[in-house]
Amino acid sequence: MAAPRRGRLRAGAAPAPPTLLRIAVPSKGRLREPAIALLEDAGLGPETPGDRALAFPCRHAPVEALLVRADDIPEYVQDGVVDCGITGLDLVRERAADVTEVLRLGFGACSLEVAVPVESALGSATELRGARVATTFPRLAAELLPVPVELVPVDGSVELAPRLGLADAIVDLVSSGSTLRTNGLRSLGPLLESEAVLIAPSEPSAETLQLAAVFRSVVEARAARYLMLNAPESALAEICALVPGSRAPSILPLAEPGMVAVHSVIPAADVWRLLPALEAAGASSILLVPVERMLG
Ligand code: AMP
Repeated sequence: MAAPRRGRLRAGAAPAPPTLLRIAVPSKGRLREPAIALLEDAGLGPETPGDRALAFPCRHAPVEALLVRADDIPEYVQDGVVDCGITGLDLVRERAADVTEVLRLGFGACSLEVAVPVESALGSATELRGARVATTFPRLAAELLPVPVELVPVDGSVELAPRLGLADAIVDLVSSGSTLRTNGLRSLGPLLESEAVLIAPSEPSAETLQLAAVFRSVVEARAARYLMLNAPESALAEICALVPGSRAPSILPLAEPGMVAVHSVIPAADVWRLLPALEAAGASSILLVPVERMLG
């Protein structure tokens, strides 16, 4: 890691007001827009940054966002140049930055995978001993591969390395797997699951922890739906058994005798499975609405 930047700041520069929280946000790439959308959904009112903006303020909170390359964010946070930052867990681990992972943010999901050309005889990562492995993640590859390999560090277009004869295998980020397929590669399995994270120095400021709590309420709400349905009392036991979640559902009497309304918060990922099952159990007038915040 490079030496801390704080010491390199211009002498005499006016310190930021103590209550202004500075958060580093990816300046480009696939994490930029979802990170800004999180500030928006958290109610901070971020000003829309232009393509060339280096920073932007928030209208509703004493928060300034600095636009920084995603792979530089771990270092900026470690050095205390910003209070916290949003970047990929893969980059945090690759840079071995001395930072705390405060919160997983539920977007930018991908995995760091080992892959070989489809025609390769290699069948698992344990067979890679001594193989040439191209990657932009040399530290993680060396740490996570089960056998020693010859690393071929590259800056980009990793998928091309086997075709160019530079490597026998690659270690790269995969989300849908379509880039691997397009390039005639086959995954031998994941080494690390990653997603966007909020990171802070090892002792986060009170303002950072406050912001993290607001982000958490948004992240949890995005993964939930509010379910409302009507049902005959006779179907209640079966319906309650179907509805997952940590809390018991609310049961409300309806004007129609023998009928009740059931309200519950359910995981968004269960919706596709749950709705037909609820209908089959006798539920009617099923409504599903988004949740904006979840606290407590
Ligand atoms: P980018 O700036 O677009 O190259 O990507 C920066 C970060 O996006 C990566 O470090 C990952 O944390 C995340 N990411 C999510 N899905 C993918 C993917 N399929 N390929 C590369 N990066 C991904």
